[in-house]
Amino acid sequence: PITENPHKYSVKTIYPTVKNVVIVGGGTSGWITAATLVKLLGHSIAITLIESEQIGTIGVGEATIPPIVTLNNALGISETDFMKKTQATIKLGIEFNHWGKPGQSYMHAFGNIGQDFAFCSFHHLWNKARLNGDTRSFWQYSLNYQAAKHHKFTHLTRIPHTELKGLVSAYHFDAGLYAGYLSNFCQQRGVQRKEGKVIGTTQQKDNGYIQTLHLESGETIEGDLFIDCTGFRGQLIHNTLGVAYENWQHWLPCDRAIAIPSERLKSLPPYTQANAHTAGWQWKIPLQHRTGNGIVYSDNHLSEDQAYAHLMAHLPSKPIAEPKALRFTTGRRKQAWFKNCIAIGLASGFLEPLESTSIHLVQSAAIRLVKHFPHRGIQDASVSIYNAQTQKEIEHIRDFLILHYHANQREGSDFWRDCQHMDIPDSLKMKIENFTSTGNIFTESDDLFLPIAWQQVMIGQNLLPKDYHPATGHFSSQQHQQLLDSLEQLIKSLAERLPDHEEFLNQLSPNS
Ligand code: FAD
Repeated sequence: PITENPHKYSVKTIYPTVKNVVIVGGGTSGWITAATLVKLLGHSIAITLIESEQIGTIGVGEATIPPIVTLNNALGISETDFMKKTQATIKLGIEFNHWGKPGQSYMHAFGNIGQDFAFCSFHHLWNKARLNGDTRSFWQYSLNYQAAKHHKFTHLTRIPHTELKGLVSAYHFDAGLYAGYLSNFCQQRGVQRKEGKVIGTTQQKDNGYIQTLHLESGETIEGDLFIDCTGFRGQLIHNTLGVAYENWQHWLPCDRAIAIPSERLKSLPPYTQANAHTAGWQWKIPLQHRTGNGIVYSDNHLSEDQAYAHLMAHLPSKPIAEPKALRFTTGRRKQAWFKNCIAIGLASGFLEPLESTSIHLVQSAAIRLVKHFPHRGIQDASVSIYNAQTQKEIEHIRDFLILHYHANQREGSDFWRDCQHMDIPDSLKMKIENFTSTGNIFTESDDLFLPIAWQQVMIGQNLLPKDYHPATGHFSSQQHQQLLDSLEQLIKSLAERLPDHEEFLNQLSPNS
């Protein structure tokens, strides 16, 4: 049965069964979605993916965060094979330079810092020492940071002879090679790939559901469920279904980027760099065969010529291709799932790449779709829950990104001054006030960024807590001092002894 209003909350089935899934778009999001669906549901659904070489992909998106490791494991992808074929390197964190003030530097290092106790998080112990005159940096207690800065890496789940977490990593990879890698993975498992450009659709008369896609070649493709992975154009979710976009530019003002690859670096740092400039920031992503570079900026504050000149003046090595200019609007699609269409990837919204979260959002959406998969027909309840979860997830990340811009003390630039004075979401305001006054930071259970991530950005950008938790008093001042000394020493000496990142990459020899 088909309900009259498919968007009013109800548990009625409004579309019979879903057997044929059609994905439009063969960028990172199309192929991650196809890979996840075929791996987990391939036995019960047919999957077709349409991509257009004429349109191409966005061609950027090379830095990831640790959950990518979980995705690869779930897909059964071997790390060695994946790293060799995508020219990947290890990523232990993101170094933010000049964000608080020009010349200042900190890292959002993955993994833990120091040693947390059930009654008290480590950063309170660090902060108490700091308020008593200890000058050691928070990152002296981060194994990820120390290993990253010494260009070290090996797989290490625990620090030997302790209960402390070892290294937590993600990857940098070549986005084009990654899409190709997943394309092979999917086609070997039965995903049907079609080359072609979607130029129109037929919708069901009674409820507006998409029924057929029309390709430029004249071919038509029918489906039960359509996944829109067409990038910023949102071919189905926007052009066909007209779902609106919520603009967040007033909080995240950058709207342009220029990307350019340069030669491979001599020594490959296992971390991304995000260097603030007068009206935005510049990324440096070390890969095995080249370096990914790009400048992100606000068109209102910097001309394209100025941005290009800044980018070229700050390249770490010789450019090896032409620059590519990109435009974007930060924000989100108001309903990621509308009728029988689900937008994933850039079609569903965009947060700039400051914390490398876009590919993660794709992975997370693909898993969410599997969880809510409408095998017995699309139900309003699933659609509502899916959309609410999607919104909550992206708003949490949005706040985290706004924090980077807002918590700056840079002078002499309208861009940064506007960011200091902008009206931020209440959710973020509360986090900042709570942290600076009490040292506490709370997140919700399914938030992507844990308190340790928030602590690093706040401390790194000079939002230092005035107080520490009284439970730190559990340790005498001598015990407190000894704990900090021994942790610092343990992490320093271990980081020095770890193998070089380069050595780890060399083990991925062509025939291994
Ligand atoms: P696209 O790559 O644009 O792919 C769209 C696909 O749809 C293409 O295959 C295209 O041919 C197809 N298509 C479009 N219209 C049609 C049609 N009518 N018919 C048929 N096919 C069609 N993310 C990260 O996680 N880390 C990063 O470091 C990072 N850096 C970024 C830097 C910048 C400057 C930008 C703008 C983004 C960055 N991202 C990053 C985001 C990342 O690039 C994207 O999330 C990711 O590439 C997924 O893009 P997509 O597949 O949604 O879209």
